[in-house]
Amino acid sequence: MIYSQYISGKYRTIKDYSSILLLLVYFLPSWIRWDRGDHLPSQAIMMDLPNRKAYLFSIEIWPEEAYYIAGILMMAAFALFFVTSLFGRIWCGYTCPHTVFVDFFIKVERFFQGDRNARIKLDSQRMTKAKFKKKFMTHLVWLLISFSFAFGWVCYFYDASTLVKDIVSFKVTAGGLTWLFGLTFSTYLFAGFARERVCTYMCPYGRFQSAMLDNNSYVVTYQNWRGEPRGKFNPDNNSSSGDCIDCNKCVVVCPMGIDIRDGLQMQCIGCGLCIDACDSVMSSLKKPLGLISYDSTNSSEDLKAGRKHKKRIIQPKTMIFAAVFATALSGLLYSLLTKDLLKISILHDRSALFTYLPDGFIRNNYQIKLYNKTSKEKRLSIKVENNTDMEIKLQGISEYTKEQFIILPPEEALDILLFIKADKKTTASDNRIILDVVDTETGEKYKVTTEFLRTNS
Ligand code: SF4
Ligand code: SF4
Repeated sequence: MIYSQYISGKYRTIKDYSSILLLLVYFLPSWIRWDRGDHLPSQAIMMDLPNRKAYLFSIEIWPEEAYYIAGILMMAAFALFFVTSLFGRIWCGYTCPHTVFVDFFIKVERFFQGDRNARIKLDSQRMTKAKFKKKFMTHLVWLLISFSFAFGWVCYFYDASTLVKDIVSFKVTAGGLTWLFGLTFSTYLFAGFARERVCTYMCPYGRFQSAMLDNNSYVVTYQNWRGEPRGKFNPDNNSSSGDCIDCNKCVVVCPMGIDIRDGLQMQCIGCGLCIDACDSVMSSLKKPLGLISYDSTNSSEDLKAGRKHKKRIIQPKTMIFAAVFATALSGLLYSLLTKDLLKISILHDRSALFTYLPDGFIRNNYQIKLYNKTSKEKRLSIKVENNTDMEIKLQGISEYTKEQFIILPPEEALDILLFIKADKKTTASDNRIILDVVDTETGEKYKVTTEFLRTNS
């Protein structure tokens, strides 16, 4: 168990403000409304799992477009690699949801049980009424925070206002309840008890971050050339010790329980609290700040040698990460903004290549799939464009004709059988057929190509 001590300072303030901002970014978007008509969710950002669709304002992602999700994850990964190559694990220290909630939990703990020393003392005492009350209130508020996190998450999958009504009237679906309880419990467990163990043993990111760092990456650095040999504070300033007075303040504020003076470690989440702690010590000793600071190995070496350091933040590696991120982002945006709102695909029946009909015709069967991704009903006409002697028939229609019509409801996908027949006496030079699908209202034309199979004899 790590009892981290509170420290005020620049990085503590950045952490506090960024946490508030991130919590707003987490909780508020699910309450933004977006009018999509009566039959669709009116939530701007939502994963509609029962209907297998995702909504992001005016953008809709259908199940067969799951590659967009892969694209977004890829972009997020490269954005993370880019930031790590520049500044180490600061994602973990300032923006990771686990860190934000752990920080929140520690604040609650401190509010009810006091700062580090008071908590250590309280935990060493036997259970009394006063101790029970402090512990009970801490765990109760932790559970409420955990529930609010779970609620915020489920709101992205379950219309937010409906979820509130369903919770109040005890009508939440079994799936919703499972997620609410599962996430409440896991947040309580991870942020309340597992804390730094999640970052050290469960999160894979800390393990491979070192592959992205180099001597120009700005990470939390103890300037050991200046601090060592560490020694107790000497008010007469006549000792040969370095600036580090071995007060241990940088260690007791560390939420990961490490000593940064031992060098950069895998566990360090780059939160900068040890910088605040050491700066407060240096300030009271009237010594220059920055004994611990965000710095690169090269810069630290130059400072040690008394050379002027030339910052080389942009490296080939960071350029590659940035380029991959920018390419993925522009590809994704282009693809999302230009995607077809009406999509048609056709598949030849694999079980029967063709069938002889009693009237001397040959028939081929197809599975045709149509997606109407608009909020309007579509009336589509279908005919064979390049073989005028062929006739077609849709599933459920009794007559073969040259042209057939389909009504496609809004926001729906339709799977339907299509039959095409041709006189077996007519020989075709080319098996390829082109189907014309026309939106009868707008005149927009779509073409799909397939094969019409027959014997050559
Ligand atoms: S060593 Fe410093 S920057 Fe790293 S986790 Fe501990 S307090 Fe945060
Ligand atoms: S806070 Fe600064 S002075 Fe105190 S032990 Fe850490 S590095 Fe040394």
